[in-house]
Amino acid sequence: MTDPLDTRLLDEARALDAADPLGAHLDAFLDAPGVTAYLDGNSLGRPLRDMPEKLAAFVREDWGTRLIRSWDEQWMALPMELGDRIGRVALGAAAGQTVVADSTSVLIYKLLRAALGATDEERTELVMEAGNFPTDRFLAEGVAAEAGVTLRWLEPDPVRGVTIADVEAVVSERTALVSLSHVDYRSGALADMPGITAAVHEVGALMMWDLCHSAGVIPMQLDAWGVDIAVGCTYKYLNGGPGSPAFAYLRRDLQGVLRQPIQGWWSAADIFAMGPEYQPAGDIRQLLSGTPPVTSMLAMQGMLDLIEESTVEAVRAKSTSLTELAVRACDEVLAPLGVRLLTPRDPELRGGHVTIGHPDFREVTQRLWADGVIPDFRFPDGIRLGLSPLSTSHVETITGILAVRDALEPHGR
Ligand SMILES: *Cc1c(COP(=O)(O)O)cnc(C)c1O
Repeated sequence: MTDPLDTRLLDEARALDAADPLGAHLDAFLDAPGVTAYLDGNSLGRPLRDMPEKLAAFVREDWGTRLIRSWDEQWMALPMELGDRIGRVALGAAAGQTVVADSTSVLIYKLLRAALGATDEERTELVMEAGNFPTDRFLAEGVAAEAGVTLRWLEPDPVRGVTIADVEAVVSERTALVSLSHVDYRSGALADMPGITAAVHEVGALMMWDLCHSAGVIPMQLDAWGVDIAVGCTYKYLNGGPGSPAFAYLRRDLQGVLRQPIQGWWSAADIFAMGPEYQPAGDIRQLLSGTPPVTSMLAMQGMLDLIEESTVEAVRAKSTSLTELAVRACDEVLAPLGVRLLTPRDPELRGGHVTIGHPDFREVTQRLWADGVIPDFRFPDGIRLGLSPLSTSHVETITGILAVRDALEPHGR
Protein backbone atom coordinates (compact mmCIF):
# COMPACT_ATOMS: atom_id res chain seq x y z
CA MET A 1 0.00 0.00 0.00
CA THR A 2 1.37 3.39 -0.94
CA ASP A 3 1.65 5.98 1.77
CA PRO A 4 -0.57 9.07 1.02
CA LEU A 5 2.43 11.32 1.74
CA ASP A 6 4.50 9.47 -0.87
CA THR A 7 1.67 9.78 -3.39
CA ARG A 8 1.34 13.51 -2.77
CA LEU A 9 5.10 14.14 -3.11
CA LEU A 10 5.33 12.05 -6.27
CA ASP A 11 2.28 13.81 -7.77
CA GLU A 12 3.82 17.15 -6.98
CA ALA A 13 7.10 16.06 -8.56
CA ARG A 14 5.27 14.84 -11.69
CA ALA A 15 3.53 18.21 -12.01
CA LEU A 16 6.84 20.08 -11.68
CA ASP A 17 8.41 17.81 -14.32
CA ALA A 18 5.48 18.37 -16.68
CA ALA A 19 5.99 22.16 -16.40
CA ASP A 20 9.81 22.00 -16.57
CA PRO A 21 11.05 24.04 -19.56
CA LEU A 22 14.28 22.01 -19.59
CA GLY A 23 12.51 18.66 -19.19
CA ALA A 24 13.08 17.66 -22.82
CA HIS A 25 16.84 17.49 -22.17
CA LEU A 26 16.47 14.59 -19.70
CA ASP A 27 16.39 12.35 -22.77
CA ALA A 28 19.73 13.66 -23.99
CA PHE A 29 21.59 11.50 -21.47
CA LEU A 30 22.51 7.83 -21.74
CA ASP A 31 20.27 5.43 -19.83
CA ALA A 32 21.81 3.64 -16.86
CA PRO A 33 19.94 0.33 -16.53
CA GLY A 34 19.11 -0.49 -12.92
CA VAL A 35 19.55 3.09 -11.69
CA THR A 36 16.29 4.64 -10.47
CA ALA A 37 17.80 7.84 -9.01
CA TYR A 38 21.23 9.20 -9.90
CA LEU A 39 21.93 11.84 -7.27
CA ASP A 40 25.64 12.24 -7.86
CA GLY A 41 25.76 14.29 -11.05
CA ASN A 42 27.60 16.96 -9.03
CA SER A 43 30.47 14.49 -8.56
CA LEU A 44 30.46 12.75 -11.94
CA GLY A 45 28.05 14.08 -14.55
CA ARG A 46 26.31 11.56 -16.83
CA PRO A 47 27.39 11.03 -20.43
CA LEU A 48 25.26 12.38 -23.25
CA ARG A 49 23.47 9.80 -25.35
CA ASP A 50 25.56 10.49 -28.45
CA MET A 51 28.93 10.01 -26.66
CA PRO A 52 29.62 6.42 -27.84
CA GLU A 53 29.16 7.50 -31.47
CA LYS A 54 31.16 10.71 -30.98
CA LEU A 55 34.05 8.84 -29.38
CA ALA A 56 34.04 6.24 -32.15
CA ALA A 57 33.99 8.96 -34.82
CA PHE A 58 36.89 10.72 -33.11
CA VAL A 59 38.98 7.55 -33.16
CA ARG A 60 38.04 6.73 -36.77
CA GLU A 61 38.40 10.19 -38.27
CA ASP A 62 40.22 12.87 -36.25
CA TRP A 63 42.79 10.48 -34.86
CA GLY A 64 42.65 7.43 -37.20
CA THR A 65 42.49 9.23 -40.53
CA ARG A 66 43.82 12.74 -40.04
CA LEU A 67 46.54 11.38 -37.76
CA ILE A 68 49.11 13.94 -36.65
CA ARG A 69 47.68 16.51 -39.06
CA SER A 70 44.85 16.99 -36.53
CA TRP A 71 47.20 18.86 -34.23
CA ASP A 72 47.48 21.68 -36.75
CA GLU A 73 43.93 21.32 -37.96
CA GLN A 74 42.21 21.52 -34.58
CA TRP A 75 43.92 20.19 -31.46
CA MET A 76 46.58 22.85 -30.86
CA ALA A 77 43.96 25.51 -30.33
CA LEU A 78 41.54 23.32 -28.37
CA PRO A 79 42.62 24.27 -24.80
CA MET A 80 42.03 27.95 -25.59
CA GLU A 81 38.91 27.41 -27.70
CA LEU A 82 37.25 25.26 -25.08
CA GLY A 83 38.36 27.70 -22.39
CA ASP A 84 36.69 30.56 -24.28
CA ARG A 85 33.55 28.49 -24.61
CA ILE A 86 33.44 27.67 -20.89
CA GLY A 87 34.08 31.35 -20.18
CA ARG A 88 31.20 32.45 -22.40
CA VAL A 89 28.69 29.76 -21.42
CA ALA A 90 29.34 29.39 -17.70
CA LEU A 91 31.69 32.01 -16.26
CA GLY A 92 30.78 35.43 -17.61
CA ALA A 93 34.31 35.71 -18.97
CA ALA A 94 35.33 37.33 -22.25
CA ALA A 95 37.57 35.34 -24.62
CA GLY A 96 41.31 34.98 -24.02
CA GLN A 97 41.17 34.47 -20.24
CA THR A 98 40.28 30.79 -19.77
CA VAL A 99 42.14 27.58 -20.70
CA VAL A 100 41.47 23.86 -20.25
CA ALA A 101 44.38 21.85 -18.88
CA ASP A 102 45.69 19.44 -16.27
CA SER A 103 43.53 18.54 -13.26
CA THR A 104 41.98 21.02 -10.86
CA SER A 105 44.63 20.12 -8.28
CA VAL A 106 47.52 20.86 -10.66
CA LEU A 107 45.97 24.13 -11.81
CA ILE A 108 45.37 25.21 -8.21
CA TYR A 109 49.05 24.55 -7.51
CA LYS A 110 50.18 26.50 -10.55
CA LEU A 111 47.97 29.49 -9.81
CA LEU A 112 48.64 29.61 -6.07
CA ARG A 113 52.36 29.70 -6.88
CA ALA A 114 51.86 32.24 -9.63
CA ALA A 115 49.80 34.53 -7.38
CA LEU A 116 52.19 34.33 -4.43
CA GLY A 117 55.15 34.92 -6.74
CA ALA A 118 53.63 38.16 -8.01
CA THR A 119 52.70 39.93 -4.77
CA ASP A 120 54.75 42.40 -2.72
CA GLU A 121 57.18 41.10 -0.12
CA GLU A 122 55.23 42.62 2.79
CA ARG A 123 52.27 40.47 1.84
CA THR A 124 53.07 37.28 3.68
CA GLU A 125 49.70 35.59 4.23
CA LEU A 126 47.61 33.14 2.25
CA VAL A 127 44.00 32.83 3.45
CA MET A 128 42.18 29.52 2.96
CA GLU A 129 39.02 28.07 4.46
CA ALA A 130 39.54 25.30 7.03
CA GLY A 131 36.57 23.34 5.65
CA ASN A 132 37.59 23.61 2.01
CA PHE A 133 37.96 20.50 -0.17
CA PRO A 134 41.05 18.52 0.92
CA THR A 135 43.06 19.03 -2.27
CA ASP A 136 42.68 22.83 -1.95
CA ARG A 137 43.85 22.74 1.68
CA PHE A 138 46.72 20.33 1.05
CA LEU A 139 47.98 22.35 -1.91
CA ALA A 140 47.79 25.56 0.12
CA GLU A 141 49.86 23.95 2.88
CA GLY A 142 52.50 22.85 0.41
CA VAL A 143 52.62 26.11 -1.50
CA ALA A 144 52.73 28.19 1.70
CA ALA A 145 55.77 26.18 2.83
CA GLU A 146 57.48 26.50 -0.57
CA ALA A 147 56.81 30.22 -0.87
CA GLY A 148 57.56 30.97 2.79
CA VAL A 149 54.18 32.53 3.52
CA THR A 150 51.87 32.01 6.49
CA LEU A 151 48.64 30.12 5.98
CA ARG A 152 45.67 31.72 7.75
CA TRP A 153 42.64 29.52 8.16
CA LEU A 154 39.09 30.87 7.99
CA GLU A 155 36.66 28.94 10.16
CA PRO A 156 33.12 29.87 9.14
CA ASP A 157 29.86 28.29 10.22
CA PRO A 158 29.93 24.85 8.52
CA VAL A 159 26.38 25.11 7.15
CA ARG A 160 26.12 28.84 6.38
CA GLY A 161 29.59 28.91 4.77
CA VAL A 162 31.98 31.86 4.35
CA THR A 163 30.50 35.35 4.67
CA ILE A 164 31.95 38.75 3.80
CA ALA A 165 32.31 39.45 7.53
CA ASP A 166 34.35 36.23 8.00
CA VAL A 167 36.71 37.38 5.26
CA GLU A 168 36.95 40.97 6.48
CA ALA A 169 37.93 39.69 9.91
CA VAL A 170 41.13 38.03 8.64
CA VAL A 171 42.36 40.06 5.66
CA SER A 172 44.77 42.96 6.02
CA GLU A 173 47.67 44.69 4.28
CA ARG A 174 49.61 41.47 4.99
CA THR A 175 47.27 39.34 2.84
CA ALA A 176 48.70 38.22 -0.49
CA LEU A 177 45.90 35.94 -1.67
CA VAL A 178 42.52 34.64 -0.52
CA SER A 179 41.41 31.30 -1.97
CA LEU A 180 37.87 30.01 -1.42
CA SER A 181 35.28 27.68 -2.93
CA HIS A 182 32.27 29.31 -4.58
CA VAL A 183 29.99 26.45 -3.50
CA ASP A 184 31.04 24.38 -0.49
CA TYR A 185 31.52 20.73 -1.49
CA ARG A 186 29.89 19.50 1.70
CA SER A 187 27.15 21.93 2.77
CA GLY A 188 26.42 23.35 -0.66
CA ALA A 189 26.68 26.87 0.80
CA LEU A 190 27.05 29.51 -1.92
CA ALA A 191 29.55 32.26 -1.18
CA ASP A 192 28.94 35.89 -2.19
CA MET A 193 31.48 36.05 -5.00
CA PRO A 194 31.17 39.76 -5.89
CA GLY A 195 31.01 40.86 -2.24
CA ILE A 196 33.94 38.78 -1.03
CA THR A 197 36.06 39.60 -4.08
CA ALA A 198 35.48 43.32 -3.40
CA ALA A 199 36.38 42.90 0.29
CA VAL A 200 39.64 41.18 -0.67
CA HIS A 201 40.48 43.86 -3.23
CA GLU A 202 39.76 46.50 -0.58
CA VAL A 203 42.94 45.40 1.25
CA GLY A 204 44.89 45.08 -2.01
CA ALA A 205 45.07 41.27 -2.11
CA LEU A 206 44.31 38.84 -4.95
CA MET A 207 41.22 36.60 -5.00
CA MET A 208 41.09 33.04 -6.32
CA TRP A 209 37.84 31.07 -6.58
CA ASP A 210 37.41 27.30 -6.85
CA LEU A 211 34.38 26.78 -9.11
CA CYS A 212 34.24 22.97 -9.04
CA HIS A 213 30.73 22.86 -7.57
CA SER A 214 29.34 25.92 -9.33
CA ALA A 215 30.56 25.99 -12.94
CA GLY A 216 27.64 25.10 -15.19
CA VAL A 217 24.95 25.45 -12.53
CA ILE A 218 25.37 28.90 -10.91
CA PRO A 219 25.41 32.01 -13.12
CA MET A 220 28.46 34.18 -12.46
CA GLN A 221 30.23 37.21 -13.94
CA LEU A 222 33.96 36.77 -13.37
CA ASP A 223 34.86 39.77 -15.55
CA ALA A 224 32.25 42.15 -14.13
CA TRP A 225 32.96 41.09 -10.55
CA GLY A 226 36.70 41.67 -10.96
CA VAL A 227 37.76 38.13 -10.06
CA ASP A 228 41.52 37.65 -10.46
CA ILE A 229 41.86 33.87 -10.70
CA ALA A 230 39.47 30.92 -10.87
CA VAL A 231 39.85 27.18 -11.29
CA GLY A 232 37.26 24.44 -11.70
CA CYS A 233 36.44 20.87 -12.71
CA THR A 234 34.78 19.83 -15.95
CA TYR A 235 33.61 16.36 -14.87
CA LYS A 236 30.97 17.61 -12.40
CA TYR A 237 28.19 19.87 -13.81
CA LEU A 238 30.02 20.09 -17.16
CA ASN A 239 29.82 16.29 -17.70
CA GLY A 240 33.32 15.96 -19.17
CA GLY A 241 33.71 12.37 -17.97
CA PRO A 242 36.06 10.77 -15.42
CA GLY A 243 39.35 12.64 -15.25
CA SER A 244 38.47 15.25 -17.86
CA PRO A 245 40.85 18.21 -17.58
CA ALA A 246 40.11 21.30 -15.50
CA PHE A 247 39.83 24.95 -16.51
CA ALA A 248 41.56 28.06 -15.23
CA TYR A 249 40.61 31.71 -15.60
CA LEU A 250 43.23 34.45 -15.29
CA ARG A 251 42.09 38.06 -15.64
CA ARG A 252 43.59 39.59 -18.77
CA ASP A 253 45.66 42.29 -17.08
CA LEU A 254 47.34 39.69 -14.84
CA GLN A 255 48.53 37.67 -17.82
CA GLY A 256 52.19 38.33 -18.41
CA VAL A 257 52.45 39.50 -14.76
CA LEU A 258 51.69 36.19 -13.02
CA ARG A 259 54.01 33.33 -14.04
CA GLN A 260 53.01 29.76 -13.33
CA PRO A 261 55.85 27.47 -12.22
CA ILE A 262 55.48 24.41 -14.50
CA GLN A 263 56.87 26.20 -17.52
CA GLY A 264 56.73 23.44 -20.09
CA TRP A 265 57.00 23.94 -23.83
CA TRP A 266 53.26 24.52 -24.31
CA SER A 267 53.55 27.63 -22.15
CA ALA A 268 56.39 29.09 -24.19
CA ALA A 269 56.02 32.13 -26.43
CA ASP A 270 56.77 30.02 -29.52
CA ILE A 271 56.01 26.33 -28.99
CA PHE A 272 57.97 25.17 -32.01
CA ALA A 273 60.94 27.52 -31.72
CA MET A 274 62.68 24.81 -29.70
CA GLY A 275 65.00 27.61 -28.58
CA PRO A 276 67.85 27.46 -26.07
CA GLU A 277 65.91 29.09 -23.26
CA TYR A 278 62.39 29.65 -22.01
CA GLN A 279 60.38 32.67 -23.05
CA PRO A 280 56.86 32.67 -21.54
CA ALA A 281 53.80 33.19 -23.72
CA GLY A 282 52.32 36.58 -22.90
CA ASP A 283 48.74 35.35 -23.10
CA ILE A 284 46.54 32.78 -21.36
CA ARG A 285 48.50 29.92 -23.01
CA GLN A 286 51.21 30.52 -20.40
CA LEU A 287 49.05 28.47 -18.00
CA LEU A 288 49.54 25.30 -20.06
CA SER A 289 52.51 23.00 -19.45
CA GLY A 290 52.57 19.98 -21.77
CA THR A 291 50.56 18.25 -24.47
CA PRO A 292 46.83 18.60 -23.74
CA PRO A 293 44.62 15.51 -23.14
CA VAL A 294 42.57 15.84 -26.32
CA THR A 295 40.51 12.67 -25.91
CA SER A 296 39.42 13.81 -22.46
CA MET A 297 38.21 17.11 -23.89
CA LEU A 298 35.55 15.51 -26.08
CA ALA A 299 32.68 14.81 -23.72
CA MET A 300 32.34 18.29 -22.19
CA GLN A 301 31.70 19.82 -25.61
CA GLY A 302 28.19 18.40 -26.00
CA MET A 303 27.28 19.46 -22.46
CA LEU A 304 28.54 23.00 -23.07
CA ASP A 305 26.28 23.15 -26.14
CA LEU A 306 23.35 21.98 -24.05
CA ILE A 307 24.00 24.53 -21.29
CA GLU A 308 24.47 27.31 -23.83
CA GLU A 309 21.22 26.41 -25.55
CA SER A 310 19.39 26.24 -22.20
CA THR A 311 21.27 29.20 -20.62
CA VAL A 312 22.92 28.84 -17.24
CA GLU A 313 20.21 31.10 -15.75
CA ALA A 314 17.53 28.56 -16.72
CA VAL A 315 19.74 25.75 -15.39
CA ARG A 316 19.97 27.63 -12.09
CA ALA A 317 16.18 28.12 -11.99
CA LYS A 318 15.66 24.37 -12.36
CA SER A 319 18.37 23.70 -9.80
CA THR A 320 16.50 25.88 -7.30
CA SER A 321 13.26 24.07 -8.07
CA LEU A 322 14.96 20.69 -7.47
CA THR A 323 16.71 21.70 -4.24
CA GLU A 324 13.54 23.37 -2.87
CA LEU A 325 11.56 20.21 -3.49
CA ALA A 326 14.34 18.14 -1.91
CA VAL A 327 14.47 20.33 1.22
CA ARG A 328 10.68 20.19 1.58
CA ALA A 329 10.59 16.41 1.14
CA CYS A 330 13.42 15.98 3.64
CA ASP A 331 11.48 18.08 6.16
CA GLU A 332 8.39 15.97 5.66
CA VAL A 333 9.71 12.42 5.40
CA LEU A 334 13.25 12.40 6.83
CA ALA A 335 13.27 14.97 9.65
CA PRO A 336 10.83 12.83 11.70
CA LEU A 337 13.48 10.06 11.59
CA GLY A 338 16.15 12.32 13.04
CA VAL A 339 17.73 13.47 9.76
CA ARG A 340 19.31 16.95 9.91
CA LEU A 341 19.49 19.44 7.04
CA LEU A 342 23.16 20.42 6.56
CA THR A 343 22.55 22.90 3.71
CA PRO A 344 21.31 26.51 3.94
CA ARG A 345 17.48 26.75 3.77
CA ASP A 346 17.53 29.96 1.76
CA PRO A 347 17.85 28.94 -1.93
CA GLU A 348 19.86 32.13 -2.60
CA LEU A 349 22.50 30.84 -0.19
CA ARG A 350 22.97 27.38 -1.65
CA GLY A 351 24.26 25.77 -4.84
CA GLY A 352 23.06 22.67 -6.65
CA HIS A 353 23.23 20.00 -3.95
CA VAL A 354 21.51 19.34 -0.64
CA THR A 355 23.28 17.59 2.21
CA ILE A 356 21.53 15.77 5.02
CA GLY A 357 22.95 14.09 8.11
CA HIS A 358 22.17 10.99 10.18
CA PRO A 359 24.44 8.65 12.19
CA ASP A 360 23.34 5.64 10.07
CA PHE A 361 24.06 7.21 6.69
CA ARG A 362 27.22 5.22 5.95
CA GLU A 363 25.26 1.94 6.00
CA VAL A 364 22.22 3.60 4.42
CA THR A 365 24.35 4.70 1.45
CA GLN A 366 25.55 1.13 0.90
CA ARG A 367 21.95 -0.10 0.90
CA LEU A 368 20.90 2.65 -1.52
CA TRP A 369 23.72 1.91 -4.00
CA ALA A 370 22.76 -1.77 -3.95
CA ASP A 371 19.21 -0.73 -4.88
CA GLY A 372 20.19 1.58 -7.75
CA VAL A 373 19.74 4.84 -5.82
CA ILE A 374 23.04 6.70 -6.01
CA PRO A 375 23.82 9.70 -3.79
CA ASP A 376 27.23 10.02 -2.14
CA PHE A 377 28.40 9.78 1.41
CA ARG A 378 30.55 12.46 2.99
CA PHE A 379 32.32 11.97 6.27
CA PRO A 380 31.27 11.97 9.08
CA ASP A 381 27.56 11.26 8.51
CA GLY A 382 26.32 13.22 5.51
CA ILE A 383 24.50 12.12 2.38
CA ARG A 384 24.89 14.55 -0.48
CA LEU A 385 21.94 14.72 -2.89
CA GLY A 386 23.54 16.09 -6.06
CA LEU A 387 20.83 17.33 -8.41
CA SER A 388 22.38 18.09 -11.79
CA PRO A 389 19.54 20.08 -13.37
CA LEU A 390 19.77 19.01 -17.02
CA SER A 391 19.90 15.29 -16.23
CA THR A 392 17.80 15.02 -13.04
CA SER A 393 14.01 15.10 -12.74
CA HIS A 394 11.85 16.06 -9.78
CA VAL A 395 10.43 12.52 -9.70
CA GLU A 396 13.96 11.11 -9.53
CA THR A 397 14.68 13.46 -6.62
CA ILE A 398 11.62 12.29 -4.66
CA THR A 399 12.29 8.64 -5.55
CA GLY A 400 15.74 9.04 -4.03
CA ILE A 401 14.50 10.71 -0.86
CA LEU A 402 11.80 8.08 -0.30
CA ALA A 403 14.48 5.43 -0.79
CA VAL A 404 16.60 7.10 1.91
CA ARG A 405 13.62 6.89 4.25
CA ASP A 406 13.04 3.21 3.42
CA ALA A 407 16.73 2.40 3.88
CA LEU A 408 16.72 4.16 7.27
CA GLU A 409 13.90 1.99 8.53
CA PRO A 410 14.49 -1.30 6.69
CA HIS A 411 12.15 -3.25 8.96
CA GLY A 412 9.50 -0.56 9.33
CA ARG A 413 7.88 -1.00 5.94
C1 LIG B 1 36.01 17.97 -7.05
C2 LIG B 1 36.87 19.04 -6.47
C3 LIG B 1 38.24 19.08 -6.73
C4 LIG B 1 38.86 17.97 -7.53
O1 LIG B 1 40.17 18.16 -7.92
P1 LIG B 1 40.85 17.10 -8.92
O2 LIG B 1 42.20 17.59 -9.14
O3 LIG B 1 39.99 17.05 -10.15
O4 LIG B 1 40.81 15.77 -8.24
C5 LIG B 1 38.97 20.14 -6.22
N1 LIG B 1 38.39 21.12 -5.46
C6 LIG B 1 37.06 21.08 -5.19
C7 LIG B 1 36.44 22.16 -4.37
C8 LIG B 1 36.27 20.03 -5.66
O5 LIG B 1 34.97 19.98 -5.38
